[in-house]
Formats: sequence, C-alpha cells, structure tokens
Amino acid sequence: MTDHGKRYHIKAACPQCGCSFAQILSGEELKKKYGDMPNVELECGECMIKFQEETKKACPEWDKDCRLEE
Ligand SMILES: [Zn+2]
Repeated sequence: MTDHGKRYHIKAACPQCGCSFAQILSGEELKKKYGDMPNVELECGECMIKFQEETKKACPEWDKDCRLEE
C-alpha cells in the first residue's frame, strides 16, 4: 500500500541550462503521473525544455517505495 501522506522530492538538473529542478509530489500524484516508469519526464522552469531523468536518480525514495509495493 502506498502511504498517501508521504511526500516525495524529485530532484534533477536540466541538461541544457544546468539549473536544478525540484518538485514535491505525493505518492498518489507520482503514481498518476509516472506510474512505475523507469524515467520521469520533467520540464525545466528556466528554459522550458522537457527532459527525462532516471527515477532512481531523481527520486530514490519513490523508486524504493515503488519496488517495495510489488
Ligand atoms: Zn533548463
């Protein structure tokens, strides 16, 4: 079972401008957005490009919990 009260921090660096990206999502939101995909798709707030980051790098916590559920 997912702990719906838990917040996950997604962190990544934009490959184009290098600015850091951070987002906080609940387990439910993460599941809806990314499911159990190996990569998360992110959009840089500075240069607006979309890029992908490995889930285990962007959000190791989620990756861990996601696996624990199975
Ligand atoms: Zn950028």
